[in-house]
Amino acid sequence: CRPDIRAAEDPRFSRSIQDGFMKILITNDDSVYAPGIKALAAALSKVAQIAVVAPDRERSAVSHALTLHHPLRAVKIAPGRYSVDGTPTDCVNLGIHSLLDFHPDLVFSGINRGANLGDDVTYSGTVAAAMEATLMGIPAVAISLASLDDAADYANAAVFAARLAPLVMKNGLPRGTFLNVNVPASGNPLACPPLVTVQGKRRYEGTIVDKVDPRGRSYYWIGAADLDFHDVEGSDFAAVKRGHISITPLHLDMTNHQSIPLLNSWTF
Ligand code: MN
Repeated sequence: CRPDIRAAEDPRFSRSIQDGFMKILITNDDSVYAPGIKALAAALSKVAQIAVVAPDRERSAVSHALTLHHPLRAVKIAPGRYSVDGTPTDCVNLGIHSLLDFHPDLVFSGINRGANLGDDVTYSGTVAAAMEATLMGIPAVAISLASLDDAADYANAAVFAARLAPLVMKNGLPRGTFLNVNVPASGNPLACPPLVTVQGKRRYEGTIVDKVDPRGRSYYWIGAADLDFHDVEGSDFAAVKRGHISITPLHLDMTNHQSIPLLNSWTF
């Protein structure tokens, strides 16, 4: 985008909460020790009372998995900061039902290492944590940085999260709806107007590595190739590609309402 300095100074983004302090539960799928969640917690602690409940190791791409077949352990690693040997969805459940001494007004998940765009939201543990909060009736935001670089800078995404939290708090979100936010890793995304987008579309190609291990057995490895997206105008991918922060409202009703008349025309 062409940076607009005024956008960065928009008073809507600098408003602080006057009527009481927000309470925010923070989680992710990259682990409680990931740089993204540390940056998010630091930024949100300036505008809210926070608690962090996150997996003890990376759980990326576990989607909405819930642990049912073994007990979960939570370790308090610092005041208001818990490590859980479970999934992001487990963390939201444990946080809200057992660990926290407050009921959160908001749940933030992230800042994920790598974008969560288009069809990838269906695999994402980061997005699923926001889904879980939404199922519980708590407004939620999933936020991701579009970089897999270990040296990536989470500062811009963290600043935006601290601007977004009071806006979500003030305006609320439509029923069953949460926000999927993706922040470009290069340029100055805070100086570009954020774009409200639709979920984009992946270009799926052969992405399975098929080789033989040192003991002579075949192995397969999913997702090794560099995947691309269809550059659809108005999509999350298009916004991030052009340097804008993308905000996609997602909802949990997966019914395709337009298909109902079609299916009703079938003779079952
Ligand atoms: Mn992740």
